[in-house]
Amino acid sequence: MEKITAKVLQLAEGYRDVTARNLSRLVQIKSLTGGEGEVAAELQKQMRDAGFDDVRLDGLGSVLGRVGKGKRLLAVDAHIDTVDQGNLENWSEEPFSGRIANGFVHGRGSVDQKGGAAAMVTAGRILAELGVPDGLTVLFTGTVMEEDCDGLCWKYIIEEEKIRPELVIITEPTALGIYRGHRGRMEMRVSFKGLSAHGSAPERGKNAIYMGSRACLEVEKLNERLRHDDFLGKGSVTVSEFVSGSPSLCAVADSARIHLDRRLTAGETKETALAEVRELVCAEPATVEVLQYREKAYTGKEYGMEKYYPTWKLEPDHPAVARAENVFRSLFAREPRVDKWTFSTNAIAITDIHHIPCVGFGPGNEVMAHAPNEKVPVDDLVKASAFYALYALRMM
Ligand SMILES: [Zn+2]
Repeated sequence: MEKITAKVLQLAEGYRDVTARNLSRLVQIKSLTGGEGEVAAELQKQMRDAGFDDVRLDGLGSVLGRVGKGKRLLAVDAHIDTVDQGNLENWSEEPFSGRIANGFVHGRGSVDQKGGAAAMVTAGRILAELGVPDGLTVLFTGTVMEEDCDGLCWKYIIEEEKIRPELVIITEPTALGIYRGHRGRMEMRVSFKGLSAHGSAPERGKNAIYMGSRACLEVEKLNERLRHDDFLGKGSVTVSEFVSGSPSLCAVADSARIHLDRRLTAGETKETALAEVRELVCAEPATVEVLQYREKAYTGKEYGMEKYYPTWKLEPDHPAVARAENVFRSLFAREPRVDKWTFSTNAIAITDIHHIPCVGFGPGNEVMAHAPNEKVPVDDLVKASAFYALYALRMM
């Protein structure tokens, strides 16, 4: 084994307990979307303790920790907000315990995805100790608001903070596989305009509920014929809400709207998805729109974007993927599993909107994300920290 690889592995192993304890503390601080202030402070402290060269917050409150001072920029990203615990009865232990036992760190966010954050802090520690190669800077980002609006934090980093890495490693859970894409998604609303009339004489009116109902049945059929991609799978669409309005319960309904959850596969875009839905409802007085997200960060800054999260994938022979495979083989002496996420990540803003490649590698299994009794293997944390550090060292 190459000397530097052995050294990275040895350091990652040596920091096993530090990494697990750091994660435990991050889990113990509840950090729902928009309430990440306290966990951001803890992450900054952990980065400073690890010997990072510079640690600060951006305007949205994401943590930006830097090691090295070269011109080329590699970023490693972990979002630090989590979803809520859900029904407590499904948990066999306290959701925010951060308990370390039997080789696991337990609790909400351990997999999705504070485990990635703890592992990347240790990677920064290893790099600070070994020295970042000349000409390279590694930026570790602990980002906010991902669970509500994936990619928003990175839109801010790129467009408002004017930071543009050449590549981003996404540390969302991959069970130590190398991920090179996921389906995109978008949220659409279709509104139908009817005409109310007395309920005793429906023939005088135009019932918006009937318009919406016809559209719903067409959406069901549309789902069946959406395209398929061998790597990413099939695009999908479903009606997730139906709301109607009427002047009275004794009147013809004069408004209705449906909410569509659309998952996009390769080759499907906002334009194609909108056109399909417009086609379905062209016979009705209906409007189709993509919804907007706009919320306040914990810093008080309000920011938003359209709820369109494009599909992305890197080709299997992309240099960023090839490097990831080589790093994996060097460290673990076996072939990596190259795959994709089922869910969506920050990569949507980075890769598709801003054309910066992303590659995914993270501790823990994605099936535990948003599930009760979430827990991450400490072994995964150790391996991920070694992977991020060696990846940075192999950039030059
Ligand atoms: Zn996540």
